Amino acid sequence: MPERVGFIGLGIMGWRMAASLARAGFELTVYNRTREKADRWVAEHGGAVASSPAELAERSDVIVTMVVDGSQVERVLLGEGGAMEGAREDQLVIDCSTIGPTAAREIAARLAERGVHFLDAPVTGSSPKAEDGTLTIMVGGAPDDFERARPVFAAMGELIVHAGPLGQGQMVKLINNAVAAANAATLAEGLVAGRATGVDLDALVEVMAAGAGGSAMLDLKAGPMRAHDYTTLFKLEHMLKDVRLCLEETQAAGTPFAGAAHAHQLLTAGMGRGLGDADFAALLEAVEGLAGKRL
Ligand code: NAP
Repeated sequence: MPERVGFIGLGIMGWRMAASLARAGFELTVYNRTREKADRWVAEHGGAVASSPAELAERSDVIVTMVVDGSQVERVLLGEGGAMEGAREDQLVIDCSTIGPTAAREIAARLAERGVHFLDAPVTGSSPKAEDGTLTIMVGGAPDDFERARPVFAAMGELIVHAGPLGQGQMVKLINNAVAAANAATLAEGLVAGRATGVDLDALVEVMAAGAGGSAMLDLKAGPMRAHDYTTLFKLEHMLKDVRLCLEETQAAGTPFAGAAHAHQLLTAGMGRGLGDADFAALLEAVEGLAGKRL
């Protein structure tokens, strides 16, 4: 019998990840802060709605959380009406939000006091891969817990990597996103440089895609940037959170990460322009603002 899964957080990613679990045959109970979204999810995918994380925990063996940051994970697990009020020993919590290793280890330690196991399992791939159940999932935690969670991961992801002990899934995720943000910033600057020097942008993008200037960011974001289409796949505000968390960890480790620091400034400027809910491709607006030129 598959374990009963409780899913907390039906946002851009969580909605689709929970749907992948339902498709794989898991019996699901869902909770979302905005109740109406949970009712809609159950109308579409079946399962049950819990009115609080505590009620969800009473009905689940494994709990997956997909909210935004460490304080939200703490609230839904350890706050008033939180999952730990309904938890039992040997339950497993899998947190897929990107919250950084420090918060993940702190929360894991507080759950361990109650005999509850914890894996940090942030994901990468944005909403299309969440939709298809082909996310990359990087996991920190005990090998036994990882094995127990494998069927849950297999339903939501394609590449599943056990990165090491608690927190290491988070650190891998933060470095990956900081590199992605730095690539996106460089791409935006390259496009604006092309426009400013009168280059044919079709030719530029075609050559970069075939050469050393190529990247996943070029493939995914050059088109939306050129169209100034910031339809949200991954919110700029969330990318800023990830780069900030990465810089906090790398500064504590005494190591520079200049590309991430530069991307952090551009994302901050994007927030200042009211683009927090837009896709992070909107950091282009900050680059254009500095250059005084539109693509
Ligand atoms: P989102 O669309 O903003 O969804 C956030 C979810 O968290 C919603 O269900 C929201 O509930 C819930 N939430 C927010 N504040 C809460 C609170 N105080 N208490 C309880 N629940 C709360 O975000 P997302 O894009 O799905 O991202 C979720 C996580 O995945 C983030 O850590 C993000 O960095 C990471 N991530 C995102 C992507 C991506 O491409 N989108 C890719 C990889 C990783 P309401 O419905 O009530 O607002």
